[in-house]
Amino acid sequence: MRAAFIIIYDSNGRSLRKLNPVVFRRALGPGDAYRLEVTIPAPTLDATLSELRARFPRLRVIHKRDDGFSRLLDVLVRVVTFGGNSAYMSRYVTTLGQSIYLPAGWEARGELERVIVLRHEAVHLEQFRRYGKLGMALLYLVPVCPIGLAIGRARLEWEAYAETFRATAEILGLEAARDPALREHVLTQFVGPAYGYMWPFRRQVGRWIDAELERLAQSAPGG
Ligand SMILES: [Zn+2]
Repeated sequence: MRAAFIIIYDSNGRSLRKLNPVVFRRALGPGDAYRLEVTIPAPTLDATLSELRARFPRLRVIHKRDDGFSRLLDVLVRVVTFGGNSAYMSRYVTTLGQSIYLPAGWEARGELERVIVLRHEAVHLEQFRRYGKLGMALLYLVPVCPIGLAIGRARLEWEAYAETFRATAEILGLEAARDPALREHVLTQFVGPAYGYMWPFRRQVGRWIDAELERLAQSAPGG
């Protein structure tokens, strides 16, 4: 086994110190003259998509406007939510099976925003792989009642929204993940018409969000 070393360079590229990781941790105590800064570039949309294609070889990315099935779903969603959700074609990204369906205006969104959305959808791709289409349909639509209270749908969506918070913290920083506007947006998805009022318990969803933010704060650098 080869010993691992951490080498600290100055700005001219000269090596200053060569330390094993245990010594390095001690060497970087308070008052130490060196600081290690690692800047990880934000993931690009292309990189995110190729990573997704590697994880999900059957992935298809489709624009809703080009897809007859999506136009049919749009009508259905309007009917079952009593017109409450009319943004199916224009706002929502939808994952079914191993396909991600994009709304109008997708290209106009910021690149990092799109990366974060794709990380949320990747959780759904994983869920479809785990439960299959029939399993997902049952979990999504049946318990407890399709409209009003749907614990299956709420659990599946919460798993994906937890990833939204994680991706936001990783890509835009912890403060962005704590933004009250993001919190309100996610709360609305659960208690509002977007998913047929799937889990209308604001305080409970709020506690799920708090717990996830707490986990993120603890795993954040310096936290
Ligand atoms: Zn979702």
